[in-house]
Order: sequence, then structure tokens, then C-alpha cells
Amino acid sequence: MDDLPNGFTGFANRGNQSNSNYQYSRSYTEREQAHGVAQGYTKEEVDGIDERDRRWSWVEIDRSAIQYNVLQTKRMLENSCRLMAVVKADAYGHGAVEVAKAASAAGASYFGVATINEGIELREAGFREPILVLSEPPQKAIPLLLFYSIMPSVYTSDFAICYAEAADSHGMKAPYHLAINTGMNRIGVRFDHVVEFLSQISFHRALELVGCFTHFATADSLETLDFQIQIKHFVEAMRALEAAGFDPGIVHCDNSAAIYRFPKTHFDMVRMGISLYGYQPAPDTHRFIDLRPAMSVKARITNVMTVPMSEGVSYGMNYRSPGSVKICTVPIGYADGLMRLLSGSIDFAYKDRAVHQVGNICMDQCMFEVDLRSRIGYGKPDPQIGDEVLIAGPHATVDASIDTMARKAATIPYEIICGFSRRMPRFYV
Ligand SMILES: *Cc1c(COP(=O)(O)O)cnc(C)c1O
Repeated sequence: MDDLPNGFTGFANRGNQSNSNYQYSRSYTEREQAHGVAQGYTKEEVDGIDERDRRWSWVEIDRSAIQYNVLQTKRMLENSCRLMAVVKADAYGHGAVEVAKAASAAGASYFGVATINEGIELREAGFREPILVLSEPPQKAIPLLLFYSIMPSVYTSDFAICYAEAADSHGMKAPYHLAINTGMNRIGVRFDHVVEFLSQISFHRALELVGCFTHFATADSLETLDFQIQIKHFVEAMRALEAAGFDPGIVHCDNSAAIYRFPKTHFDMVRMGISLYGYQPAPDTHRFIDLRPAMSVKARITNVMTVPMSEGVSYGMNYRSPGSVKICTVPIGYADGLMRLLSGSIDFAYKDRAVHQVGNICMDQCMFEVDLRSRIGYGKPDPQIGDEVLIAGPHATVDASIDTMARKAATIPYEIICGFSRRMPRFYV
């Protein structure tokens, strides 16, 4: 057999060819097996390496912003009005447990979640506040509700009876909130059927109606007609319940937009979601409430290059270097939630100046340009590996805000903040 370069010993044994030259060498196999085995370092030593030193992108959450947003909102509520912190979807991407701690310290006394598992996470972290799942869970999950004291939203009699019987057979109560459909047509008992519905299920002694709520489809819209119709239906439903002798318990309907725009609809509780995280829920709410965004996405430069004029950058080479720029790479991409459709259209903040993201955003990395002709600070711009960059979040002089990012992506801030993936660690400051 002819000699091959680089110690190549041939392909793995195939079929009836039994020439030993065609097998991988023993030493190679042993080296392969050694992967994944601790050598030299202890597990404690390597586990102790900070997440921010493993990969240079992360999400910072400002706890004081969460608290500020709760306190500002509480000032607009009657003392008797409860504040539910809506911490579904891992607190809109901010981390449910830490947000729940901050919100509860500032006066939130109820938690809203979307799933049973989100409720369990709060219980396992030690929270004792009432927790409401904002939809009706599958019947098979009922034991989890009872075990963890998590309340469901109820709107079908099948679920209600099943829940009541499970509770009763264990000597427990079955507390719930009644979801009422006043026009959004997502979930809930139709507003003009609530008395009929409760009459059907109320024979069951274990059922305990803790609250009644609806949800608005257009509380953020400057056109208020649809909102007015929904609130009218809700009030009608509450009156009908009371007239029929039912105690509706905690009456609630306001999401963030409604809290600030329609103070008369606070009733016994408000459900604070997007404004808890510091985003204005409607185009006009900045006039009524000051909010501070809690989330900042940050990264450090991992590569700096001078790219000659007209050479391309990133997949597709849609961007060509104009010369006189440095191209810097940061380890954040669309797998981290930096949407690819934003390629070439957003700015980051680097040393208090706006820098343009350029080239297609990759799965795990993207690039931005530093214009060498612009003056950053007082000296010539000289980006270095390890320098910090604000990818998205509040900044005094640069617009790298989540709101701007959402507008450019033709979506809403909700989707942007939930979209930052768990691959980026959350840090609380
Ligand atoms: C998500 C949600 C909220 C919070 O809405 P925001 O607009 O984020 O304030 C309130 N109520 C229900 C039923 C929800 O699903």
C-alpha cells in the first residue's frame, strides 16, 4: 500500500476486508474514550467558572426596575386592590423566581402563570402567595393543582366536576377562578351564560369560587369601542351573578394597558404583565405611568478585524466593507433570540456610541462595524476583544431598546423579551 500523508492509516474495516491497515489504531480509540473524563481538574474547580466567562453573552435583569414598576403601579390602585404579577413564560423571559421575589417584595400578592409547571416552579421556590393558571389545564393534571395549591381558571363543567370530585375524595376544597368570555373569544364561559354555568356546577360542595375574570382584546387600542363593549358585558355578568345569589369573589379584568388607561376597571385585582418588566403597554400610557425596562442583553467582543474595502461579511456577504471600519464579532445569534430578520437593521451600544450590526445574523454569532472615522469618546476607536457591548436594552444616548427592536421586527416587545433563549444565563443586578 502506498504511503499516505499525515499518518493516515485508511478507512475503517469494511465487509470481508480484514487487512489490519484498515482499522483505526488502538491509541486513537483510547483517546476517544478519554473524552468526558475529568483529568487534572476537580469538578468543583471547573463548575466554579462563572457563566459569563464561559460564553460572552448574557441577560442582565435589574431587580430595582421590577420593584419600581410595581411601586409606581400600586400608587394608582386603591389600597384594597390586589396586584397580580403575571410571571408566565418564565416571567416574560426574565426568570420567574427572581421576578416573583422582587414583585412580591414591592407589594404583588398574587401570581399569574400560563402552565401548571410554571406554578410548580414557584411553589418549589417557596412562594406561599395564591397562584392562578390563566387557562383551564388538562383534567389529568388536577392532582398537581391540588398537591401544589395552584388554582385553575375554569370554564367547562366537565373540568369543574372532575376537579371538585378529585378534591372531595381527598377531603380538600377545589378553589378556582371563573374565566368569562366577554368578546375576545379565546377562553371562558360566555358572559350571558355565567349564571347558567354556575347553577350547573354549584351543587358540588368542594367547589370554591375564589374569583371571576375576563381578558380584554383591545385594552391597548386607541379606539375604545370594542373595549367598552367587553367591559359592559363583564359588568352585566357580575350583576347577573350577584342577582342570582352567587358571590363572585375577587373580580378582575385589567391587563397592563387597562390598568393605566381605565382606572375605573381595577375592581378587586389587576393583572400586571408587560408593564412589570418596564414596557409601555399602549401608545399613550407614558402619559400616565413611568416605567423602567428591567432587561439588558449584553455581550463581549470575541474578534476584531480590519476588513479590506469591498470584502463581504457573514453568510451571503450581503454587507461589504466600505473600508475604514473594524468588524467586531459578538457571540450572540438567532439561536439566542436575536432574530435573523433584524440583520443589518439594528444598532448596539459600544462605549456609549451606536454601532451598526452588519451582515446576516448567524445562529450563534453576529458582527457589527466600528467606523474608524467616527470618534468614540475622545480617542480613536480601538475595539478590543473582551470589550462589553449592549445588544439590547435601555441606554442614555443610544437607541438599542427592546421597543425599537420589536418595531423593526414588526412585532411587540412581549415576543422579543420571551424570545431570548435560556442558552444565555440570566444575571440579577
Ligand atoms: C398575559 C396575561 C395578562 C398580562 O397581560 P399584559 O398585557 O402583559 O399586562 C393578563 N391576563 C391574562 C389572562 C393574560 O393571559
